[in-house]
Amino acid sequence: MSSFNPKYRNTSGGRITIALYRITQAMDLLLRERGKAVRLSPTQIQSLLFLKYARPGVRTIGGLANRLESTYATASGVADALERKRLIQRTPLPEDRRVITLGLTPRGDGEAEMLEDVLDEIESAVNALPEAEQAALLHATQTIVRHLQHAGYVRVYEMCWGCQFFQMNAHPDDPRGPHHCAFMDAPLPEPNTYLECPDFVPAED
Ligand code: SF4
Repeated sequence: MSSFNPKYRNTSGGRITIALYRITQAMDLLLRERGKAVRLSPTQIQSLLFLKYARPGVRTIGGLANRLESTYATASGVADALERKRLIQRTPLPEDRRVITLGLTPRGDGEAEMLEDVLDEIESAVNALPEAEQAALLHATQTIVRHLQHAGYVRVYEMCWGCQFFQMNAHPDDPRGPHHCAFMDAPLPEPNTYLECPDFVPAED
């Protein structure tokens, strides 16, 4: 029976599923309300935050489409709108000028910084839980996310530390960066190791 029907919402699994559903509704509302205040759509807010924290190679229309789980055409439309607001700019990649990257303008960077607290209400509710409950919640939600990731419903973006492709200090004297990414077979400068990457795969324990 569907957990949407309160008459049958009598298992832990059903009640937790509906609780998670309500949390996503709250997140949607928080994004929409903030968006109204700053004249941006929730998608535009997510795009600015993506461009602020994604690793350089994925700041493209294709990378944005993946992040938004949208088509290329939709992502391109979002980028056009943000460009018209002078929050982002398109620039050819220096190593391959056929690749067009998306970058925040100083104005877009400032806007993204002001949007970073958009989910603070959720974080406050989590922070109010006792430590043991937070640990249990973290473990449970990570397990659910992994399941959804394997099923193809979410894409996980994480930073290099903890990724199985990350090789710390592989070439400490390389001016391009002391670390190495075995996935891209490329050096990694220190600041880039703290950015989000869709190719992250957790290292084995
Ligand atoms: S694949 Fe792993 S090591 Fe390479 S950039 Fe992504 S997160 Fe970093």
